[in-house]
Amino acid sequence: MLEVAALTAGYGGNPVLHRISLRVEAGQSVCLIGANGAGKTTLLRCLAGLIRPSSGSIRIEGKDITAVAASERLGFGVALVPEGRRVFAPMSVRENLEMGAFRRLWPRRDRAVAADMDMVFALFPRLAERHRHAAGLLSGGEQQMLAIGRALMSRPRLLLLDEPSMGLAPRVVQDIFATIRRLNNEGMSILLAEQNANMALRSAGWGYVLAEGEIVRDAESGSLARDQVVRASYLGL
Ligand code: ATP
Repeated sequence: MLEVAALTAGYGGNPVLHRISLRVEAGQSVCLIGANGAGKTTLLRCLAGLIRPSSGSIRIEGKDITAVAASERLGFGVALVPEGRRVFAPMSVRENLEMGAFRRLWPRRDRAVAADMDMVFALFPRLAERHRHAAGLLSGGEQQMLAIGRALMSRPRLLLLDEPSMGLAPRVVQDIFATIRRLNNEGMSILLAEQNANMALRSAGWGYVLAEGEIVRDAESGSLARDQVVRASYLGL
């Protein structure tokens, strides 16, 4: 599904990611764990086309998308749920969801957009109840649901999630992760970046550990969770 090879990227000529290689198989759920500042967000932004790598390649379903613009990557089945949700605060819940389907709204509205919105409302009934509310007035958990729903409106086959647990109460985090597992069980490939390594390793099948911009370990999630170094460094055990 996703194949990243020797990806190097950074800001203003200062590399943050050093020759990153990783894979997500079709239907797999993979997590990326690492401390604050390890480079998780930078990597997901590269995959979404928001940062241009200085070298290396990104392939989706065998196609090289390294040079493809962010807006075009949705067409390759990749959607990002950004860190901090980034919902459009003054716009309604419904309008935010429509923005996720913007490629199909112009020049002519795709009829399936309404059906996709119903699918999002079925997944998150709370959003259906609040569909006329301004997104900025929602709770943190509801905004996270909206950010996920907005990404789903582009019908991704690979969903990239950046710190979905950030700033949320434990119970809300449980609900969000249950939804992510449900999407994966229905066949969607997932790449999840999390500082909450406990939750991430419990939810994903495979994990990568990122430290100072390098992949330092990768293994089946259960075995990473038992790894002494991972337990001491990331699980606080
Ligand atoms: P966090 O959990 O805090 O988001 P992270 O693992 O996602 O951490 P990144 O946000 O990718 O890490 O940051 C990796 C490095 O890149 C850090 O040293 C950070 O200071 C630097 N960095 C991030 N964004 C920028 C930017 N816009 N300009 C310059 N440097 C940046």
